[in-house]
Amino acid sequence: MRVPLIVGNWKMYKIMNEAVELVNEIKRELLDFRKAEIVVCPPVTNLSSVYELLMETNIGLGAQNLYWEKEGAFTGEVSALMIKDCGCEYVIIGHSERRKYFSESDENVNKKIKASLEVGLVPIMCVGETLEEREATKTIEVIKQQLVGGLKGFSLQDLGNLVIAYEPVWAIGTGKTATPTQAQEIHKVIREWILENFSSELSSNMRILYGGSVTPENIRELMRQEDIDGALVGGASLKSASFVGIVKNSVDE
Ligand code: PEP
Repeated sequence: MRVPLIVGNWKMYKIMNEAVELVNEIKRELLDFRKAEIVVCPPVTNLSSVYELLMETNIGLGAQNLYWEKEGAFTGEVSALMIKDCGCEYVIIGHSERRKYFSESDENVNKKIKASLEVGLVPIMCVGETLEEREATKTIEVIKQQLVGGLKGFSLQDLGNLVIAYEPVWAIGTGKTATPTQAQEIHKVIREWILENFSSELSSNMRILYGGSVTPENIRELMRQEDIDGALVGGASLKSASFVGIVKNSVDE
């Protein structure tokens, strides 16, 4: 059985006191909640402080990015081990904002996944098509290309914990959510691709999250889809009421 996973991506929001306030509010509401796994991904500047507040709770910590080299003269970058050392279990890799604003390629994504696995971090690999690609009926082709490039060279054993997030670029931060049917169609494609390229066990155990304007109102119907196992939440994770609402509505009462 796949345990539902709800991940909050705080992007470049929240200075220290705001991060502490938000995480304390989330804790207050969700400390006893065991029906879904919950992870928050604050900016790197807040990781250690948030970790102190989440230690030994049911709420996990993730980072939003890393650099693939182990160490060295890479001013401004943060390694997988540094992220792990801050208490992270998860790391988001290949988010569309990184692909768009920082020219991150599938090859970069591949190196970052490798670096995260080497230190025992669970990568949340993001894939998704732009509106232009969807309108040109290239969605499936684009998703498969991202899967091929991002997961090149890995063995079945490597990917046991991998999480994939399907995030249509046109749905991120726009208020336009993919319909549950549209999302399910692509989740199924991803699961089948994993089956064809790795194994049926990995495919049926792998959690595939949906991301793109998820709200407490639309999460229920998305979660009713067979291949949707949770959500990667941006905007709505910045306020405790909406994030808590999404977590609670992601599972049956
Ligand atoms: C995201 O940042 O991954 C995301 C899905 O953002 P939003 O929920 O705001 O669309």
